[in-house]
Amino acid sequence: MVDEERGRVAIADAIERSRNCVVLTGLRLGGSDESDITHQRGEWTRKGSLEGLLTRPAEFWEYYEPVANLIARREPQPAHLALAELQRAGHVRSVITQAVDRLHARAGSEDVVEVHGNVISLRCDRCGERYGLGELPGLRAGAEDGVPRCTTEGCGFPLRPAGTLWGEPLIADAVEKAWQLAREADLFVVLDSELRTVPISLLPSVPLTQGTPLVIVGEVPTQYDRYAEVVVREPAAGVMVDVAALLRDRDSESSPSA
Ligand SMILES: [Zn+2]
Repeated sequence: MVDEERGRVAIADAIERSRNCVVLTGLRLGGSDESDITHQRGEWTRKGSLEGLLTRPAEFWEYYEPVANLIARREPQPAHLALAELQRAGHVRSVITQAVDRLHARAGSEDVVEVHGNVISLRCDRCGERYGLGELPGLRAGAEDGVPRCTTEGCGFPLRPAGTLWGEPLIADAVEKAWQLAREADLFVVLDSELRTVPISLLPSVPLTQGTPLVIVGEVPTQYDRYAEVVVREPAAGVMVDVAALLRDRDSESSPSA
């Protein structure tokens, strides 16, 4: 068996043995964190920051609208579909993601924990009203300064993206949920995440301190590689498509109706 195949079989074995497999995916499943526009060294951190929204709102929205639309127009990739299939088959319990593109949900994954939220909606912090990204052009065109404002009667408060911006804490409920899932996992799988930004970079330490096996798949080495049971140094897409196929074959062989 060549190394490439051995890694896939080892992951399939680990997933098959587990009863509560939790998967964490990076900023852009199917690509490196670095390739994503929301990466920590990218423009997003300067122009799409909380500070930008608060101090230069017109400039912020000028930058944010086209970028958010680009992200929202992405389509689920084979890796998203493979993960959704594994979840449907009962092999993967939960998915936690750092991505803001909502592709896991669109691929069919359920109860996805989005620790950064996503780019598909806006919200009013005064009255709680939510708006879709598609409403943004109209809201901006209706404002002299290009800053979208709440249209609730008597509100008019400047809107903000519903997701987390650079420079502000992650969504507390989502982070708490992620920690809970990590504690309950009996297998923790990291896909295409560099594990460099706190607090999510600390998440794999939760299963590790409990003796829960860790699987890491991705092109970029991480600080946890030496503690992992399986490390596959490749983009997760091809690996997870193969793992899903392996488990599909095993499931059909073991199914009495097959
Ligand atoms: Zn409002």
